[in-house]
Amino acid sequence: SVRVRFAPSPTGFLHVGGLRTALYNYLFAKAHGGTYLLRIEDTDQERFVEGAVENLLRSLEWAGVHHTEGVMLTEEGQVTEKGDKGPYVQSKRLDIYSRHIRSLLDSGHAYPCFCTKERLDALREKERQEKGGSRYDGHCRSLDTEECAARMTAGEPHVIRLKLPAHTDIQFHDLVRGTVTMNTDDLDDQVLIKSDGYPTYHFAVVVDDHLMAITHVIRGEEWLASTPKHVYLYQAMGWEAPTYVHLPNILNIDRKKLSKRQGDVAAEDFRRKGYLPEALVNFLALVGWSPEDNEELFTLADLEQKFSLDRVSKSGGVFDLKKLNWMSAHYMREADLEVLTDLAIPCLQEAGLITPDEAEANRQWVTSLVAILRENLHYMSELPEKAAVFFQENLEVESGEAEEWWVSEALETLRPVLTEQLAALGSMDEAVIKPVFKAIQKETGLKGPQFFKPLRVALTGRVHGPDLMLVMKVLGKERILKRLEQHL
Ligand code: GLU
Repeated sequence: SVRVRFAPSPTGFLHVGGLRTALYNYLFAKAHGGTYLLRIEDTDQERFVEGAVENLLRSLEWAGVHHTEGVMLTEEGQVTEKGDKGPYVQSKRLDIYSRHIRSLLDSGHAYPCFCTKERLDALREKERQEKGGSRYDGHCRSLDTEECAARMTAGEPHVIRLKLPAHTDIQFHDLVRGTVTMNTDDLDDQVLIKSDGYPTYHFAVVVDDHLMAITHVIRGEEWLASTPKHVYLYQAMGWEAPTYVHLPNILNIDRKKLSKRQGDVAAEDFRRKGYLPEALVNFLALVGWSPEDNEELFTLADLEQKFSLDRVSKSGGVFDLKKLNWMSAHYMREADLEVLTDLAIPCLQEAGLITPDEAEANRQWVTSLVAILRENLHYMSELPEKAAVFFQENLEVESGEAEEWWVSEALETLRPVLTEQLAALGSMDEAVIKPVFKAIQKETGLKGPQFFKPLRVALTGRVHGPDLMLVMKVLGKERILKRLEQHL
């Protein structure tokens, strides 16, 4: 049965490209009734970041891309493991790698290399100047086995390298790219075990994918060039290689590889901005995959039905922020108001518009605020700016139309009547206000826009905005009367 994995390195955050890889693995497993697991690839100890694993797992949980095996979070947020093929963290598997490197050394597919850093640096410099690239020159390839054993026992620093045969084509089939061929003359004798005893990614990934019975390796295009080495390693170990699927790079709108310098690339960044996970997941699903029809809006459940690897494209998928925002606005309109209220409160707090106590006491009011403003939002952190008018003590009128002479003239007529009439009302509900407005329009002769435009300006400082009846309800009587009093 199908077994796939997402195997992030804990670098501190979940890149949107990583989230997409996780999503495609998840969807593929769902479509085949298979298992999707998560493994942590932390063999690069220099890049260790405190809390990175928790962060990663939380981001995935937020996105709703759940795995059922591997490294997990407990309800309390502790890192734990589930499954019978663990440990699922590479740094806990060192004895497994040393067992398997032994067998490669014994079969002559790997060799110890004692070259010093100085020698390798000099070699690299020379090769780069002569050929523009750099490869290990095989200096230690044919050292005497007994001499090697003696030097290793004596504790001489060394690495273990893969012994690639010369002039040999390595071929594999990639579900997205078709047949890929590379000649070993273009490949390095890859380091498999570093001098600190840790495996490199290349060795660990092969051992782990095999022992964890992974059937399909679905990962980013940046690993395509390494795959021939992995395929050769499988052969050398006498194992069957998995099926490979390399996903196209995610590109910026200018078709360069998406990078941190050009803006947000972490799932967490989007979460913090108040995007709904449904929007980000829907958007990412379409960066590199397309459905049969031209539909664009998919819930995760829809995607589970429709996703298939044969519609993953070879060319890069573009991360079009405009499209994400369009999609996100759709989800803002559809979302449950309670969910939106939960998102809104921290945004309003952060903007200093509301204190935690006020938020708690006025939760329903926040909900009604969100209900009238969500039409104008792409994501929740846009709320404070749009909502500011509901909080201001002194309204500032936007310049422009609101300054037309007739607006302030009409307002002077309306102000006293409105104040008197509204002050007498028990609530600012539409049903209560409407007949009063009718009467005032009749009395003053100011009808339609001549009535509503000045009123909106008086209450919000703007000529345009959400439904005025809803605005009034959210503002409440006290604030409305205050604003009518205030001369603009
Ligand atoms: N640890 C690799 C990464 O961080 C995973 C590559 C793979 O899936 O083989 O991207």
